Amino acid sequence: MEFKTMILGHLLMLSLALNVGLLYRDYIGNGKQKFQEFFSSENKLKNASLITNRDANNVVESTVLETEETSSSKAVDETIDLDHGDPTMYERYWQKMGDKTTVLIPGWRFISYFSDGNNICWFLEPEFANAIIRLHKLVGNAVTENRYIVVGTGSTQLLQAVLYAVSPPNATEPIDVVSAAPFYSSYPLITDFLKSGLYKWGGDANKFKKDKPYIELVTSPNNPDGFSRDAVVNRDQGILIHDLAYYWPQYTSISYTADHDIMLFTVSKSTGHAGTRLGWALVKDQDIAKKMTEFVMLSTIGVSKESQIRAAKILQVVSDSHEYRGDFNEGEAFFEHSHKLVERRWKQLRDAVSNVKIFSLPEFPLWHCTFTNSSFTTQPAFAWLKCESEIDDCESFLRHHKIRTRGGKHFGDDEKYVRISVLPRDKIFDQFIKRLSSISSS
Ligand code: PMP
Repeated sequence: MEFKTMILGHLLMLSLALNVGLLYRDYIGNGKQKFQEFFSSENKLKNASLITNRDANNVVESTVLETEETSSSKAVDETIDLDHGDPTMYERYWQKMGDKTTVLIPGWRFISYFSDGNNICWFLEPEFANAIIRLHKLVGNAVTENRYIVVGTGSTQLLQAVLYAVSPPNATEPIDVVSAAPFYSSYPLITDFLKSGLYKWGGDANKFKKDKPYIELVTSPNNPDGFSRDAVVNRDQGILIHDLAYYWPQYTSISYTADHDIMLFTVSKSTGHAGTRLGWALVKDQDIAKKMTEFVMLSTIGVSKESQIRAAKILQVVSDSHEYRGDFNEGEAFFEHSHKLVERRWKQLRDAVSNVKIFSLPEFPLWHCTFTNSSFTTQPAFAWLKCESEIDDCESFLRHHKIRTRGGKHFGDDEKYVRISVLPRDKIFDQFIKRLSSISSS
């Protein structure tokens, strides 16, 4: 019984961490065998990561190669899984950075629970906080002055922290949490998971008509469709939370410096380090920052310091790659490099879609980017693909062609749409483009 409970607990965590409502369904649904398969591959990685100082780089490299090889050879015959937003596209870049990003942590470091007793968020490592501020200043995507930084185990934890922090504590009924469809598929799951008495999922913000307090989640650029967004409800009693996970120049033009009351960011989508499990919130109001800190304290007594130190290093290297170009090779400035990668993928995808004829993709406006000082159209981390003609269930249609995606209904939208990750490893993406193109000729 205990074992079963433990399994369910792990599954749920993994499901959220990988942004996989569907993984949850499958592993629970198909039972122990799949669960064991999943964990045996996890264990392989775990063993590889038991590294010593001496061969840290070698092992990291071979881990990367092993994963890449395994997944790409599998993809040839098997279903290509583009359901999750796992950002493994970035692996190759970080592999090239080699020693520049290696962090060695002696056994005596980070014993204490505490990082900075003077900070409201007392478990925030100053090095990580500084790296966050430096990066936002460099990119110009968010205001950091007069803001409190709260760190969380992914922005997934921060989302829960912020719902707790902004919900009226003594209301007679839970406050509605809404987001305009198509919305990030984890929002309803995260909101209703614990059946909180403080808040509950209220659905599509476009349909929210109650004359009552509400919380609106504004995701910009949006997951799944990539469009830039503003709040849609716009009433007096609204509390806005801006999820800016994708407001980075590899995906979209930095057209303004975001200055919202509560802004969420994550390393998962900015640098690709989803496994580091770190997000940060920029919060104007001190009481909200305190309550968010309280939430993280009561759920996990803080956030891994090792992760924060590693993430600090990664963010520093991102900033260095732009500010000290002489120390890097040509084309290695992080956002330039990743922008080009995503751009190339969107070109491949648009070419395939226009040849196949039965699909369509969203078109985005051209915007000036203050960071790159150039104009470009949004090239999101996900493609929101529509099946045209008589195909009503796009997810099943693509699954039949051995391409696994996430269907529109998970995002509060029509089944004619699917969300496809644009951020897998190169070989998987190329394989996907080939398979998509072959649908036309079949
Ligand atoms: N918000 C959005 C819009 C996302 O797409 C994701 C990841 N898919 C998250 C939050 C969660 O990110 P993290 O890995 O930091 O928990």
